[in-house]
Amino acid sequence: MDSRRDFLQKLAASAIAIPFLSPAKAWENSSFLSYNPDGPVLRVALMGLGGYASIVAKAMQDCKRAKITGLISGTPAKLAEWGTKYNVPEKNRYNYENFDDIKNNPEIDVVYVTTPNALHHDQVIRVARAGKHAISEKPMALNAKDGQEMVDVCANAGVKLLVGYRMHFEPKTLEVIRMRKNGEFGKIMFFQGQSGFRIGDPNQWRLNKALAGGGALMDIGIYAVNGARYMIGEEPVWVTAQETKTDSVKFKEGVDETIQFQMGFPSGAVASCLSTYNMSYLDRFYLTGEKGFAELQPSTGYGPIKGRTNKGELTQPHVTHQTLQMDAMAGIILDGDTPPVPVDGAEGVRDLKIIDAIYAACASGKRQELNL
Ligand code: NAD
Repeated sequence: MDSRRDFLQKLAASAIAIPFLSPAKAWENSSFLSYNPDGPVLRVALMGLGGYASIVAKAMQDCKRAKITGLISGTPAKLAEWGTKYNVPEKNRYNYENFDDIKNNPEIDVVYVTTPNALHHDQVIRVARAGKHAISEKPMALNAKDGQEMVDVCANAGVKLLVGYRMHFEPKTLEVIRMRKNGEFGKIMFFQGQSGFRIGDPNQWRLNKALAGGGALMDIGIYAVNGARYMIGEEPVWVTAQETKTDSVKFKEGVDETIQFQMGFPSGAVASCLSTYNMSYLDRFYLTGEKGFAELQPSTGYGPIKGRTNKGELTQPHVTHQTLQMDAMAGIILDGDTPPVPVDGAEGVRDLKIIDAIYAACASGKRQELNL
């Protein structure tokens, strides 16, 4: 077993009775440092210096294995400000016209793409053609065909493609997955995933089909899609879905407000999920099997994640998700580690195949068969 997997399994198995630790403290804590902390450092260029990049950049200040060495933005003032703040020299700052030049920059290993959804496809392909690894934010593309093309281009270029699935490194989530794998819930029967929030500014790119590729399902419903798969531990074989819209001015044609969807799994387990941009406090996963249950609420927010099973409260410590994610991704990219739940491009494509099928089910009213 490689050191990273060992680390994550220990992390998942540990039940440290400290509900919250600052990232720095957590990394000092022996259980978090029991994997190769002295391995090489992943040198990351951030592309798209918006809201999420700010969160990633802050979280990376506590990483042991990943650091910001490059910046890509269309706004010179942001490049200057972020460059000073994160100590990135001018020669490692790029814009959207010239970032292909990173191919000549030995101080950048990977580009983390945190631009609006519609841009990920072309930007990841340019990164791969520059010979660098890529991390794409979710959703990795607007549909499975584009996602698969990104996977193929990266494979042909000999670079890795990961998707920013931060929950795949979250300690309470991993503990539920460990318990399910260990048979502690018995045969899994049902998953419920509720993912949503009330979206504000009607002019933001998330409500623009050309940039977002859809609505709530692309942005937040994807957590229930992905969560159903890692909580149940199988790939769905069919999906049905129903869309409802209460505000067709804010949520224009092709921008989904609320979708309920159901999935069937080979074992007979079923999932019932809700994706919405128009309801508050929807961040809950519930899994039940013949012998037990797990509940996570909140389940995918920035945390702390809270949860319990039929055996009691989940007490794994909170660590800033993006800190764990970026250290783990350093291990995946540089050491070839295998995470307990995949975060590669193929994983992103499977979610997009399901999303494509959910939209097709909404449009046709018919059950869609899946072959993942
Ligand atoms: P944002 O609007 O805050 O930032 C997007 C950035 O992209 C901005 O700096 C903007 O200037 C830049 N940009 C470049 N080209 C652009 C264009 N043509 N139009 C608009 N903006 C352009 O958005 P965000 O919340 O940071 O989301 C970015 C990506 O990160 C999305 O794909 C989103 O799904 C993902 N995200 C992931 C998480 C997570 O927890 N994994 C959380 C939030 C966002």
